[in-house]
Amino acid sequence: MGRREDADAREKATGMRQSKGAMTAKIIVGALFVVSGVTTDWAASGNTDNPTGTMIMSIVIGLALIAWGVLPWWNARRKREAVAAKELAARQAEEARRMNEPKICPACGAATKGIQCEYCGTPLK
Ligand SMILES: [Zn+2]
Repeated sequence: MGRREDADAREKATGMRQSKGAMTAKIIVGALFVVSGVTTDWAASGNTDNPTGTMIMSIVIGLALIAWGVLPWWNARRKREAVAAKELAARQAEEARRMNEPKICPACGAATKGIQCEYCGTPLK
């Protein structure tokens, strides 16, 4: 499979076009940028009130890399949760429909509904 097919298959399975490895790499490299921005420039200069351009650059690049790795994962997660919520709502609607379905009680012959006869209490199928 080519890269494109890989990404398509992955999107279907996980909701993300990036692989777990790519995501992890972006986050780690991003974190390294942030850390190096803080340690090499900020801490080394000892001048925390006056951040240097390089330091801000490193941190911005780092945060951008982290966002690039995290956002697709976050979106995929939100999408999965939305699907799960929809399925739950559908199940509840089906349950409510079944509870209101008219039935004939096998014991007393009354027209009833629910999980047991409203008149004699016989469990209904
Ligand atoms: Zn009955």
